[in-house]
Amino acid sequence: MAESLEALRKRIDEIDLELLSLLNKRGEVVNSIGKIKETQGTKRFDPVRETQLLESIKENNEGPFSTSTLQHLFKQIFKASLDLQKTETKKILLVSREKRSEDTVIDVKGEKIGDGNTHFVMGPCSVESYEQVREVALEMKNQGLQLLRGGAFKPRTSPYDFQGLGVEGLKILRQVADELDMAVVSEITSPENIEVALDYVDIIQIGARNMQNFDLLKTAGSVDRPVWLKRGLSATIEELIYAAEYIHSRGNSQIILCERGIRTYEKATRNTLDISSVPILKKETHLPVAVDVTHSTGRRDLLLPAAKAAIAIGADVVMAEVHPDPATALSDSAQQMDIAQFRDFMKGLQPLLNMNQKATV
Ligand code: PEP
Ligand code: MN
Repeated sequence: MAESLEALRKRIDEIDLELLSLLNKRGEVVNSIGKIKETQGTKRFDPVRETQLLESIKENNEGPFSTSTLQHLFKQIFKASLDLQKTETKKILLVSREKRSEDTVIDVKGEKIGDGNTHFVMGPCSVESYEQVREVALEMKNQGLQLLRGGAFKPRTSPYDFQGLGVEGLKILRQVADELDMAVVSEITSPENIEVALDYVDIIQIGARNMQNFDLLKTAGSVDRPVWLKRGLSATIEELIYAAEYIHSRGNSQIILCERGIRTYEKATRNTLDISSVPILKKETHLPVAVDVTHSTGRRDLLLPAAKAAIAIGADVVMAEVHPDPATALSDSAQQMDIAQFRDFMKGLQPLLNMNQKATV
């Protein structure tokens, strides 16, 4: 006698539960394979192996399902298994929000970068003389600002352009900063100079051209000094995050990410300020984010609107270059502000700054 509908349905339910249990058993084995592949560094997707498995379905299929239907179903299982491996073995980066939900706050001589207030890094493109740096620094002091920048090692596009004063430049910055109780931000271009930089700088800058200089990142990651990491000329946000991870993975978690414009086909500006990178970086990482309005726009007339946009979108720091006499500057003369323009720039930003901020005009 034929089985009743009820009995058949009961058998189907039992088979489905068996399938469920078998699929999850398969998932466990898949995860173990994923771990082995992770340590071996081999690719998770193996097309040869997938073809073999599909072939074996063909050889062993006794129906009633057609081979193509079963192969289609198994492909779905293979895909789900691959996804399972991805989520199981996905590394949670040290710099990610997932790893740490609170904002990282970096204390530089009492200035707490990442505390929710807007901070400013200002100073000349290149250090040219004690007098030049001091003139800018004095005006910064007047404005209540204390993070003084200046390039001593200049990675110039042309080898015939001014290359910077080197350690002499760092000494000038330190001297002026000490006299006025300020902090120094300066770019270091090679791992060998990190050690000497510790005597002079409060924040080590890694420039756009060095964002993927992995030896430099590792060396900066092994010292106890905040790092100002600039986005590479053509780097993606993900590449910037991985560059920061290089630093963090060596033990140094004091990292400030700096959007400084990227190379696009647009010629109206020196680079294209990728303003949306700011909220993305804030969302994806727990690190403070800065916007360099000078190198991104390359235009004096755009510094104020770009800085307003940066503050409005959530940047922790705004960076811009100031020179007592931009026309005679040895680098970036077209885009640095003079002292009067710097004053106007800060005045223009006042409405956007929080009430409790240090910067006052
Ligand atoms: C700088 O800030 O001095 C500089 C050279 O900028 P970037 O590395 O972003 O070009
Ligand atoms: Mn410059």
